[in-house]
Amino acid sequence: MSSIRTLSPPFVLPRARLDDLFERLRARGYRVIGPRVRDGVIVLDTVKSSADLPVGYTDEHAPGRYRLRRRNDDAVFGFVVGPDSFKRTFLVPVQRLFRARRDGDRVRFSPEPVDTSKVALVGARGCDLAAIETQDEILAEGAHADPFYVARREAAFIVAVSCSESRSSCFCTSFGTGPRPTRGFDLSLTELLDGPHRFLVEIGSAEALEIATELGLSTASEQDQGAAAGIALRTSRGMERQLDTQGLREMLLSRLEHPHWQDVGSRCLACTNCTAVCPTCFCVDIVDKSSLDGESHERTRQHDSCFSADYSAVHGHPVRNDVAARYRQWLTHKLATWIDQFGRSGCVGCGRCITWCPAAIDLTREVARLRDDVSLETDP
Ligand code: SF4
Ligand code: SF4
Repeated sequence: MSSIRTLSPPFVLPRARLDDLFERLRARGYRVIGPRVRDGVIVLDTVKSSADLPVGYTDEHAPGRYRLRRRNDDAVFGFVVGPDSFKRTFLVPVQRLFRARRDGDRVRFSPEPVDTSKVALVGARGCDLAAIETQDEILAEGAHADPFYVARREAAFIVAVSCSESRSSCFCTSFGTGPRPTRGFDLSLTELLDGPHRFLVEIGSAEALEIATELGLSTASEQDQGAAAGIALRTSRGMERQLDTQGLREMLLSRLEHPHWQDVGSRCLACTNCTAVCPTCFCVDIVDKSSLDGESHERTRQHDSCFSADYSAVHGHPVRNDVAARYRQWLTHKLATWIDQFGRSGCVGCGRCITWCPAAIDLTREVARLRDDVSLETDP
């Protein structure tokens, strides 16, 4: 497990004072966004108080299956990730880029201003932080930084949460991204339910330290620190799903013509759910719309998916004509060619694509089937 990057010894926050933390964030101009129950799932939206959080809820995950259940305690963060991720906050689904309008014999362009409003994101898990770091490298730190992403990202304060349980879709330990957040947060909470309900608070930024000081938080005892470490260890050890990442890139790239791609292609519905829920997928399309009278025009950037036929269209015809080719493109990009492009895997092990695939396609199983075949071939 990676060591945790913090700026001070940890503090302890009583559960009854969680709202004080939200109040401090609001006083600093942040809109607080966090998990909420809506239509039977946990989504991310504005949170006014801790009563808005999914208190006393837990979730069940399996390939193609998700259910919310009541817990028999009042845990505030007793669930894992829902279909939503903070990707939607930074890389918004529909981003207007500019508007244009005819002015006599000229055309006047109005570029879209960037959004610098402050948001505090509450409840980011270790896999979420890794996904944000992955997108930062591409959209904020790469050769072609996106000003809309950068502005929103710079205005964010992140309150991470350590996972105290894993679900059957989770495999963050395969990539070392969870279950305990180790970096990329301003402040990180571990919920402690033994004894008085409280949170261990770890500090990752100067602003978080200011907030902890304003709140007058006490330093955490060694017992509380040990309890938090024990929760992370138990969660890690309890993780059932694994993805063998050893030699994964080479294995996948050596199997591009394997018949298994046709097998998975026959099950995949090309519904694009997996890319929609994936916190690292960043494919977009540029859409131009002109008014019928030709007087005005607007250009937007919208989330898109490599599973849609149009996404690979060149001169009106898709390059990836069948679903098998699109699934292969997605999986090999995520787990192999992403490493060539960006120096890291495009998967953080959050399991969303497994839970939310209506055909119950499970990338860890598909990889294992491709890998087993390689082993059979290379066995003496
Ligand atoms: S893998 Fe599943 S979620 Fe993804 S496009 Fe295919 S059917 Fe949809
Ligand atoms: S590919 Fe699946 S498991 Fe990996 S980060 Fe995306 S949604 Fe999560």
